[in-house]
Amino acid sequence: MTEMRIIASAGVALPTPFEARHLIGGAWLDSADGAVSERYSPAHGTLVSVAAKGGVAEAEAAIGAARATFDAGDWAFSSGAYRAGILLRVADLIEAHLDRIALLETLESGKPISQAKAEIGGAADLWRYAAGLARMVHGDSHNALGPDMLGVVLKEPIGLVSLICPWNFPFLIVSQKLPFALAAGCTAVVKPSEMTPSTTCILGELLIEAGLPAGVVNIVLGYGDPVGAVLSTDARVDMVSFTGSTGVGKRISAAASATLKRVSLELGGKNPQVIFPDADLDQAADAIAFGVYFNAGQCCNSGSRIIVHEDVVEALTAKVVACSRRVPFGDPLDPETQVGAIISPEHLEKIDGYVQAAVADGATVAIGGKAFAVDGVGPHFYEPTVVTNLRPDMAIARDEVFGPVLAVLTFRTLDEALHLANDAAYGLSAGVWSRDMSTCLSFARRVQAGTVWTNTWMDGYPEMPFGGVKQSGQGRELGRYGMEEFLEVKTVQMRIGNTRAPWVSQE
Ligand code: NAD
Repeated sequence: MTEMRIIASAGVALPTPFEARHLIGGAWLDSADGAVSERYSPAHGTLVSVAAKGGVAEAEAAIGAARATFDAGDWAFSSGAYRAGILLRVADLIEAHLDRIALLETLESGKPISQAKAEIGGAADLWRYAAGLARMVHGDSHNALGPDMLGVVLKEPIGLVSLICPWNFPFLIVSQKLPFALAAGCTAVVKPSEMTPSTTCILGELLIEAGLPAGVVNIVLGYGDPVGAVLSTDARVDMVSFTGSTGVGKRISAAASATLKRVSLELGGKNPQVIFPDADLDQAADAIAFGVYFNAGQCCNSGSRIIVHEDVVEALTAKVVACSRRVPFGDPLDPETQVGAIISPEHLEKIDGYVQAAVADGATVAIGGKAFAVDGVGPHFYEPTVVTNLRPDMAIARDEVFGPVLAVLTFRTLDEALHLANDAAYGLSAGVWSRDMSTCLSFARRVQAGTVWTNTWMDGYPEMPFGGVKQSGQGRELGRYGMEEFLEVKTVQMRIGNTRAPWVSQE
């Protein structure tokens, strides 16, 4: 066993399983055929929730409710002040229910409770930020089109949006989408991951309590096939906003193209951090450990690929390995735990497959490299793992492993570092470590990524847009761009007097 900090069972009594239902047109419903799916905690192996398992009928009913609500116009034409009031009440309610939401989030996802609480608090802040945006829906006016013409560019809600979400940050990611869509005046059908349905249903309860009219937000539980597929193909849907894997993102994009829906995609990453010899190696090592072990590496922003100058690779790797030994892995319910369980046994196997394939191909495991069990909890944990002696063409250095596994590559010049950083299908985020600001800025301007961090990793703010380039996606969430995604542009041209020159000869 790798020498590491393991937190054994916290001995916390688990709540009775949550019953998750669809929210359609303001009513909580079971599936018509009574189908359900059960979710067991990946850490503890206990039943956490029993969720209605939707099919085509439920997805179509939810779309029908959201479409009718949008077309009725009461919500779409409501004032920004009214919508902001509701979003602010939701933020307050999220905070009031923070502990309950965080506990379910931890039990369904395996993430540490302290992290879940921080994410739910961060989500409340997103609802508050979006409330401000709701009062900022405005376009342009054109007063220089001639003496008798006034042009107005209106911003309108795009319509009915499907929001399809993943399991790794269930409450946070729905909160990166839904309040922004509502601020714009859209109606929505939300599909959480089949593995983490419950906290989205609690959000539905809070929306009702906050006074959101029935039918504005609908929730359908179930799998990508058929629920997600219906949400991305039905002609009544105007836009799909998806966060998840690049493979599914491509399928959704293709499916949505038949009716030319707008598609916003937040997909995977294999995010590089480049470390120059003049960097503060202690700070870099700590941020690298955070970047790769946070959420057990099951994070689109995982800093899973470091590109280190040859002169400091030994010293830096030693520091990262030392940090790896001190990070507490273990029972997600213990407030001290910083890294919890892997989402499923299948995913654990996939992570290990990448490490073992690299070893078979000549790589060296500096620390970790296998699954482990936690006393009194369960077996679905993976050791903090650092893999060196890699070639850039190995799968572990190119693919999204989505586990606590760090790939270490080396470079000699800025150009070489940039080439390695950009030699990837993905382009979500990137980082650079140097005390020389011109080195940082040269890198930031030339690296192909939606977000660049200099001398830090994974800081985020509601004000700062987030999204990827290349196969990491299209479109942006957060910031004012986060609401713009859900707005359409309408041009209105108004002749002021009776001055229009006839097209048809009057003779
Ligand atoms: P996933 O792609 O397997 O599933 C995401 C969602 O899509 C789920 O709700 C799933 O039911 C649904 N789905 C599956 N097949 C579908 C289909 N054919 N049509 C419509 N919907 C379908 O992703 P996941 O395993 O839940 O999440 C992990 C992935 O998400 C990783 O690749 C990660 O990088 C990515 N992610 C990206 C961001 C970002 O902002 N860029 C954030 C978090 C996660």
